[in-house]
Amino acid sequence: MSSDLTRLDVTALQAALAGGETSAVEVTRAHLDAIEATDGALNSYLHVDTETALATAAEVDRARAAGEELGRLAGVPVALKDVVVTDGVPTTSGSRILEGWRPPYDATVAARLKAAGTVLLGKTNMDEFAMGSSTENSAYGPTRNPWDHDRIPGGSSGGSSAAVAGFLAPWAVGTDTGGSIRQPAAVTGLVGHKPTYGSVSRYGLIAFSSSLDQAGPMARTVADAALMHEVIGGHDPRDSTSIDAPAAPYVAAAQQGAQGDLTGTVVGVVRELGGEGHTDGYEPGVLEAFRAGVEQLRALGAEVREVSCPSFDLALAAYYLIAPSEASSNLSRFDGVRYGLRVGDDGSRDLDEVMALTREQGFGPEVKRRIILGTYALSAGYYEAYYGQAQKVRTLIGRDFLTAFGDGVDVLVSPTSPSVAFPIGQRVDDPLAMYAADLCTLPASLAGLPAISVPCGLSEGLPVGLQVMAPALADDRCYRVGAALEAAQDAARGGTFLGQLAARA
Ligand code: GLN
Repeated sequence: MSSDLTRLDVTALQAALAGGETSAVEVTRAHLDAIEATDGALNSYLHVDTETALATAAEVDRARAAGEELGRLAGVPVALKDVVVTDGVPTTSGSRILEGWRPPYDATVAARLKAAGTVLLGKTNMDEFAMGSSTENSAYGPTRNPWDHDRIPGGSSGGSSAAVAGFLAPWAVGTDTGGSIRQPAAVTGLVGHKPTYGSVSRYGLIAFSSSLDQAGPMARTVADAALMHEVIGGHDPRDSTSIDAPAAPYVAAAQQGAQGDLTGTVVGVVRELGGEGHTDGYEPGVLEAFRAGVEQLRALGAEVREVSCPSFDLALAAYYLIAPSEASSNLSRFDGVRYGLRVGDDGSRDLDEVMALTREQGFGPEVKRRIILGTYALSAGYYEAYYGQAQKVRTLIGRDFLTAFGDGVDVLVSPTSPSVAFPIGQRVDDPLAMYAADLCTLPASLAGLPAISVPCGLSEGLPVGLQVMAPALADDRCYRVGAALEAAQDAARGGTFLGQLAARA
């Protein structure tokens, strides 16, 4: 039973807990045992909170036995990307500069999961400050992909993706600035949703690029992702960019989608993302799985059209100016005084020297590259030429989306990533090759729109994701169309997507 418990999705776990077939302690222990047994090889966790997890679970079991009112997710374990600030629990954002820091408060996302009764298993590995697409930029060593340990689990939320696909957590929180929920979900066979910008609070997320960062669910099913979104989403007065609108009924949208009827839904296939004349850099096996997924949507009743979004070709260039610019400003708070690491403070050096030494040792090469790039792009002489231009491109990308949705398209689709999980070491010294992994995810990020990645098949035995993008605040469409695709996939396969991996293990 104990290893079976790690195979269940959250909806099934909730039923087993509510029906008394298992206890929160049993579920938690099963996951902690699995982490102990296999995370040495995967390196998906940076910190495992064994004692608190078991104590929290025991408290849920006690409350259940006493007939007390329970939170919606009582006794369900969860893992959090280490960019999410957690009260008293080490939080590093994958960086040496935050080593040893224990925050004095909870991020809203963490607080809401706690209030719902979840059991925090631990904090997951990530690219340093969420900069990367492979988790190789972590200061604490790379994470491995459960499908093939010689390959990357995606990034920057690669610890979260590997933990969930490796059966070391039933689901996890990731964050997505330019694709870091969707791409790792795609390359590990998970569902990952980047919410509409402003629909999930950023309070307590260690900032990378504030106008882009969003936290969201990484899960084994669309319904689970929708459930987590309902719990962590909704207005938060502590985040000035939080949208003051109630969280939509995402779970109901997923349930409706699972009925498998997309009649009346218009699906736009974005030409610029892997369509004719735009296949450079896309693996043929990825395009094949994606097209098969689109045919499944058509078979479910959707009307499929090709749509052109010409400005999407500029998304990569715009993103890699805007994100580093904002990062260069956000990361100035790591000065060796306020948090974590301090180097050279032996009384012989002044503040500037200590700050420089701390940053020299505390930041890794990709973070330094982005700070330098961003500082340059924001400098007085180049601001208009680089940052200003990138912001104009951002507006054009938003307009392409508006035009497509204005023409009656309900959702846009593309592959989530141009390739399957690539080998560890292949791109880590080649920043431009690494950035290319974000080709398909960046447009929705720049426009602040919701987008989900759902598995649509295998290429060379490795998972491929299909991305569904929707208008702002229409996250429910992502869940509805995503769940329809998932149901069709499961029916064709005769089982769940991750079941294939479980069967191999
Ligand atoms: N891979 C992209 C980057 O390196 C996106 C990262 C993210 O979404 N956090 O910036």
